[in-house]
Amino acid sequence: MSTDTAPKLIEGRTGPWEIVLGLEVHAQVASNAKLFSGAAVGFGAGPNEQVSLVDAAMPGMLPVINRRCVEQAVKTGLGLKAKINTWSRFDRKNYFYPDLPQGYQISQYKDPIVGEGQIEVERDDGSTFTVRIERLHLEQDAGKSIHDMDPNATYVDLNRAGTALMEIVSFPDMRSPEEAAAYVKKLRTILIYLGTCDGDLEKGNLRADVNVSVCRPGDYEKFRETGSFSHLGTRCEIKNVNSYRYIQQAIEYEARRQVEILEDGGKIDQETRLFDPNKGETRSMRSKEEAHDYRYFPDPDLLPLELDPAWIKQIEASLPELPDDKRARLKAQYGLSHYDAGVLIIDQARADYFERAAKGRDAKLVANWVTNELLARLAKDGLEIEQSPIPSDDVAGLVQLLEENVISSKIAKEVFEHMWAGEGTPAQIVEARGLKQVTDTGALEALIDKLIAANPGQAAQVKEKPQAIGWFVGQVMRETQGKANPAAVNEILRAKLS
Ligand code: ADP
Ligand code: MG
Repeated sequence: MSTDTAPKLIEGRTGPWEIVLGLEVHAQVASNAKLFSGAAVGFGAGPNEQVSLVDAAMPGMLPVINRRCVEQAVKTGLGLKAKINTWSRFDRKNYFYPDLPQGYQISQYKDPIVGEGQIEVERDDGSTFTVRIERLHLEQDAGKSIHDMDPNATYVDLNRAGTALMEIVSFPDMRSPEEAAAYVKKLRTILIYLGTCDGDLEKGNLRADVNVSVCRPGDYEKFRETGSFSHLGTRCEIKNVNSYRYIQQAIEYEARRQVEILEDGGKIDQETRLFDPNKGETRSMRSKEEAHDYRYFPDPDLLPLELDPAWIKQIEASLPELPDDKRARLKAQYGLSHYDAGVLIIDQARADYFERAAKGRDAKLVANWVTNELLARLAKDGLEIEQSPIPSDDVAGLVQLLEENVISSKIAKEVFEHMWAGEGTPAQIVEARGLKQVTDTGALEALIDKLIAANPGQAAQVKEKPQAIGWFVGQVMRETQGKANPAAVNEILRAKLS
């Protein structure tokens, strides 16, 4: 079986090694309430303000499944082109921790709500690869222990306890730190398009556990042929990495650490590790021997989850256009390059802005203005496209002035600056500032005659070297403050000088 992976090689003393990566991404479900209680979900509430009796695990409290969270999981599964399981079940994963009042986490173990799917991911160079999704299941998040508020005490904030998470487990189909980061980026884009997760890494509503192993060239292909994990090296899992940069640094460090151990004749312990961004290192958190026995069993307080196929169809019909489809459509409908379309679909608002501005205009020109000038300006001021001081109508207006030869592209840049400063529509700015292109050939001819008469030496040169005409073009532009129509200027000059 051929794969489209591009493994990153690590040169060891004993020969080359390859990296193998599988990710477990925890995505907080976008929902107003928790998975099994009516308590609010939100960022920025005071400590323990969003805790119901269920979340606090008071005796006798019973969980009630939140339909909205189930719907979001199904929607996500459909967006990942995955199998939706009409029968799934919740299990208790038992462990003791102060931020887990129930003493167990409700999760899905053997029978998740979503089965196998896949995602197309783009590398930085524009090439693509496929990451297979193994499963997606729903589970509760835990609360938070706060160790740094008091030297003698640990505080517990249960606001997050019981919040719905989707754990999205990939197959080990990523082969370099860059591919792992690109996968999380793509997954995030899809979730945001679907509206099923806010995808804010800083707020922790998207976090990745990164599984890393190394193997010799050829072993991964055997794994893909047979499906047997025994061809792969032992993995270590790096918990809760929450930035693209940390994901890459952690993998880089961890893969090298494993190669060193193996080359010294050692063995990799399957363990859970933590990444320390300050040191750029991973360190052991717990090894497999100390691994918890979670004593999973079906939660007796919850019935199995049975989904009506008609409801799934209804959710499917409500899916928005997804990033890959949008990209293909923008390329086909507007003739955009793969790259430009890729830049525009990074978020829906960008693509919408472009499509509003492109209506009836030269779409490629509109795409140029949006992807170059506008996005650069927005980035410089740290603004999102929704906050753009220039409305899409005005980009359309600017492109119209260019199409109609009212202004040159050089002047258009100047007009753009005034648009950014809020001086009005492009047409108003051109009018008020007298930036209209001079296409009046009579006026241009008079000016050119004057220039030729004043510079006979330069004029003679043009007869020998036609490129020297550029000097005169420059002079005309200077005299007209850039407003002369370049095509008209060239034509008149050629007629007079050759
Ligand atoms: P666990 O509950 O132990 O974390 P999961 O099945 O939830 O196990 O997730 C295991 C993750 O590790 C998956 O993303 C899988 O693709 C990945 N994985 C499994 N074996 C390897 C390996 N040898 N190298 C890298 N990743 C691996
Ligand atoms: Mg897991």
